[in-house]
Amino acid sequence: MINQSDADFFHVDVMDGNFVPNISFGIPTVQAVAKHAQKPLDVHLMINNPDQYIQAFADLGTTYLTVHYEACTHLHRTIQAIKAAGMKAGVALNPHTPVHLLEEVIQDLDMVLIMSVNPGFGGQKFITAAVEKVAKLKQLINTKGANTIINVDGGVNTDTGKQLVDAGADVLVAGSFVFKSESPAATISALKSL
Ligand code: ZN
Repeated sequence: MINQSDADFFHVDVMDGNFVPNISFGIPTVQAVAKHAQKPLDVHLMINNPDQYIQAFADLGTTYLTVHYEACTHLHRTIQAIKAAGMKAGVALNPHTPVHLLEEVIQDLDMVLIMSVNPGFGGQKFITAAVEKVAKLKQLINTKGANTIINVDGGVNTDTGKQLVDAGADVLVAGSFVFKSESPAATISALKSL
């Protein structure tokens, strides 16, 4: 269904039960998705010590690899390692982490993922402050002349999605809203048309 839909990416949430309070799945499952995916894999690592797994995700065909700001003590090094492995680099920000902390690395980033819920579970309520964060991030990207795309993840539907797109979001990540809808493909099209 996703292959045939208007979706641009397969966004895959990997959770380790350590950085976040939930466990989703690991490398063999992502490998199985990669085998069938005809669109780029956008892997969101909600895990501690992501550096340890960079090569494994590169090997299975990941296009975008996103790590959490809060999980990386040496973020610059992690970003360089992702790129050296041939992938595009993304950094995700939890709701409490301000956008300005990316000032020194924004030019190296292909993607920033704004979390509009606390990571760990699907189906949570949208945190409205994310809209202003997207606008601030867009401003930072423009000021620095970066080519970074803005993703937003959590509580996305056509209402919150519209606000996010108006604020400067490039990519909307939607789970429950798509997969619990009557026609997931039509819901994806509706999000794409915002
Ligand atoms: Zn995600």
